[in-house]
Amino acid sequence: AIEIHGLRKAFGTNEVLRGIDFHVGTGEVVCVIGPSGSGKSTLLRCVNLLEEPTAGTIRVVGVDVTVPDVDIDAVRRRIGMVFQSFNLFPHLTALGNVMIAQRKVLKRGKAEAERIARENLERVGLADKTISYPAQLSGGQQQRVAIARALAMGPEVMLFDEPTSALDPELVGDVLGVMRSLAEGGMTMLVVTHEMSFAREVADRVVFMDDGVVVEEGPPTRVIDDPSHERTRAFLSRVL
Ligand code: ATP
Ligand code: MG
Repeated sequence: AIEIHGLRKAFGTNEVLRGIDFHVGTGEVVCVIGPSGSGKSTLLRCVNLLEEPTAGTIRVVGVDVTVPDVDIDAVRRRIGMVFQSFNLFPHLTALGNVMIAQRKVLKRGKAEAERIARENLERVGLADKTISYPAQLSGGQQQRVAIARALAMGPEVMLFDEPTSALDPELVGDVLGVMRSLAEGGMTMLVVTHEMSFAREVADRVVFMDDGVVVEEGPPTRVIDDPSHERTRAFLSRVL
């Protein structure tokens, strides 16, 4: 579902991604781990062209997004993205937040958008919060609304960039639980996370990045519990 070859990204003279190769198969869950500044977010943002790659190719949902004439809006509609910050509209209820892009981007009718919004709020455990405004919801609930909003668009791939790192510790579990059930339902997921227990239990593969390169990748039991590289060991000893 995602294939990345020779991906490079520089900001001015700062080369942040220095030749990245990896893939995420359909239905696979891949977790990306690595130190702050290693290029994880930049990698994720290149997948839907929020950042323009300097070199390399990225195919996602069957489309090469690095060719000049790509219809990126059409591709983005098929990719859900969830960030650390939830970016909900404060003046809309949970239901309104999950409906708005369906209405404006997919041009769904009101009744259909509302039905799909309710289904997805239920899927993330928020069936009883449809009329709540973001300010009336906990951070974990807001993040689950953001996940429902992405799911309501019917994505083929979901990208997550540290979706739980802004949350109080007691709220992290609910969000990870939703992500786990998505994974079990067969969603293709690329997840940047510091939650090693999630990576260990849910990921099919773990990719360790440092300084703009993939240092190693493999099944979580190998990369997390028995890393081959000193850089991976050093990182894990800081976070585990
Ligand atoms: P963290 O774990 O802290 O989120 P990260 O692995 O996601 O880190 P990135 O956000 O991808 O790291 O950043 C990698 C490098 O790219 C950093 O040195 C950062 O300063 C630089 N960088 C990221 N975005 C930009 C930008 N828009 N302009 C210039 N430099 C940038
Ligand atoms: Mg980041």
